[in-house]
Amino acid sequence: NNNDIRTINHLRHVDSMATMPSGAGKIPRLNAVILGEALATEENDLVFPTDEFSQQAHVPSPQKYLEMYKRSIEDPAGFWSEIASQFYWKQKWDDSVYSENLDVSKGRVNIEWFKGGITNICYNCLDKNVEAGLGDKIALYWEGNDTGFDDSLTYSQLLHKVCQLANYLKDMGVQKGDAVVIYLPMLLELPITMLACARIGAVHSVVFAGFSAESLSQRIIDCKPKVVITCNAVKRGPKIIHLKDIVDAALVESAKTGVPIDTCLVYENQLAMKRDITKWQDGRDIWWQDVIPKYPTECAVEWVDAEDPLFLLYTSGSTGKPKGVLHTTGGYMVYTATTFKYAFDYKPSDVYWCTADCGWITGHSYVTYGPLLNGASCIVFEGAPNYPDSGRCWDIVDKYKVTIFYTAPTLVRSLMRDGDEYVTRYSRKSLRILGSVGEPINPSAWRWFYNVVGDSRCPISDTWWQTETGGFMITPLPGAWPQKPGSATFPFFGVKPVIVDEKGVEIEGECSGYLCVKGSWPGAFRTLYGDHERYETTYFKPFTGYYFTGDGCSRDKDGYHWLTGRVDDVINVSGHRIGTAEVESALVSHPKCAEAAVVGIEHEVKGQAIYAFVTLVEGEPYSEELRKSLILSVRKQIGAFAAPERIHWAPGLPKTRSGKIMRRILRKIASGQLDELGDTSTLADPNVVEQLISLSNC
Ligand code: ATP
Ligand code: MG
Repeated sequence: NNNDIRTINHLRHVDSMATMPSGAGKIPRLNAVILGEALATEENDLVFPTDEFSQQAHVPSPQKYLEMYKRSIEDPAGFWSEIASQFYWKQKWDDSVYSENLDVSKGRVNIEWFKGGITNICYNCLDKNVEAGLGDKIALYWEGNDTGFDDSLTYSQLLHKVCQLANYLKDMGVQKGDAVVIYLPMLLELPITMLACARIGAVHSVVFAGFSAESLSQRIIDCKPKVVITCNAVKRGPKIIHLKDIVDAALVESAKTGVPIDTCLVYENQLAMKRDITKWQDGRDIWWQDVIPKYPTECAVEWVDAEDPLFLLYTSGSTGKPKGVLHTTGGYMVYTATTFKYAFDYKPSDVYWCTADCGWITGHSYVTYGPLLNGASCIVFEGAPNYPDSGRCWDIVDKYKVTIFYTAPTLVRSLMRDGDEYVTRYSRKSLRILGSVGEPINPSAWRWFYNVVGDSRCPISDTWWQTETGGFMITPLPGAWPQKPGSATFPFFGVKPVIVDEKGVEIEGECSGYLCVKGSWPGAFRTLYGDHERYETTYFKPFTGYYFTGDGCSRDKDGYHWLTGRVDDVINVSGHRIGTAEVESALVSHPKCAEAAVVGIEHEVKGQAIYAFVTLVEGEPYSEELRKSLILSVRKQIGAFAAPERIHWAPGLPKTRSGKIMRRILRKIASGQLDELGDTSTLADPNVVEQLISLSNC
């Protein structure tokens, strides 16, 4: 059949690569693909891009990838400076291109890229594109919470709005290097504000507008902004959230701690609430609409060094207290633009939608900077993906003819639970690439995403990366090679992922261990704000000479990478080290299981035993039979040693506000340490915890 022919062609295509030098950790192995073994083993479950897709892709084949990857590793300075030259630099960087020390035993950890180069990321996102003739192209589409409310800005219009705000900020005394805290929902004003800060060299710190007053005040106290920017209220689904009240409370707290804020700029979000009922502090609070439109629509750029800070962003807090990650300008710019272009095979005709909020790194790198640097048309969505119903995403896809859709496994799983009808009711014909980020995507969720959402036609870019890495690190390049459901596949250009054992020794070939990165890449974070020591201790001391990601990873015989979850979450049952992702995937593959999270609990004999929290698909009742069948599913897919000791029925799971499961809290619930739940301020819905505790004895 057709499929076979395609498969064979593809392999023949790569056959000539058999002579490619391939040492693990240096050049990724694409063994099966290279040697043609792929056809032999069925369980490999390779999903090939179509020939049509590959032919039009930026990277159409494994050999093209290997060629580019090899160059990026052997000559990083040459590789990256060639790419960087496509951006606008007021002045070129120093000869060295980059300098790095990741080895704590050799002194201070230090990473610099394009040092001495003078540029501005806002200029590269906007002015440069306008000058290139994209002035009338839509830069941002805005889709409101309620259907029928939308807006858009062309590149020229966006530039004008950014300049007006930038002029205002300068008037308020914001200077290069000053911090600005942004507490805004997904309005166009959010990327506008980020870009306005970048334009004048101010350091933005976006705080996700779902965080509590306490979390917001902690961040304000930490970075001491000159100005705080927010809006009066926002509608999320059917609910109205009074953001300004939260900011008021946060500013009271910060003032008490010696960080008073003199200027709070408030956007009047009329669709959510009229201004007259907003509580107001004269002298401090200013309505955006009263001042910003009066400012000139042109604003000179503040030229900055590539190594000047661009933004400060706190991690999502899945594993503990959030860390203030600092990114600088030049390397981040080059890296986000390049990863966006290749991982999503971006073409000027694309309409791109990333569902992430700008409050997270994904919204920084892949809603704002990466797409705009490429001159893309990008959707900013204010609402919730299941409002007014679970078909909203596909409604938006059809409305804007979205071609690239990038989201998180948590959303994929929840839409999968709601049923296919919500998806198949819409055409989705425009889609050509899907993306996933935030957690490992379970193979069963991957298949549903691929088959149902993408009509078995769109490659999935399962992008593994972190707030700290700035951009994609391990990711498919759609079109380049076959995918395996649940694997993030191979490293991006310039990235050297290594898997090490407990002693920090690199393991080659097929293996499993701690995921580290050797050497730096342009998008790497440079420090934790105000705490370089914590930066070194957390990331560079665990394994000397490497950046330690905190994640576990295995590499299969074909060289594909599989993220197994956080290493802190690894469970050791009778000497078997089991990653959470593996067991959760086995559970989620059961047709009645919507979502699962596993943790380890102490066990007299085995050391640790597996305790599983399971959410069933809509309307499915709990039963003893189902419990047994779930356990059987794990026994069959992984082995008896991984069978959960207990199944805890969970109507919902505790998640961070970015949608990640917080296993740290589940561990405490599982072991009955209910008074030690720790910091729960980054939880999306604290009620879930009580529900779970009340179901403990079922
Ligand atoms: P904190 O560091 O505060 O605990 P966090 O790690 O959740 O929070 P982020 O930087 O937003 O904060 O998330 C990065 C982490 O998300 C990665 O370390 C990894 O565990 C997980 N992750 C992201 N993308 C993927 C992916 N495609 N596959 C597997 N895991 C992923
Ligand atoms: Mg992290």
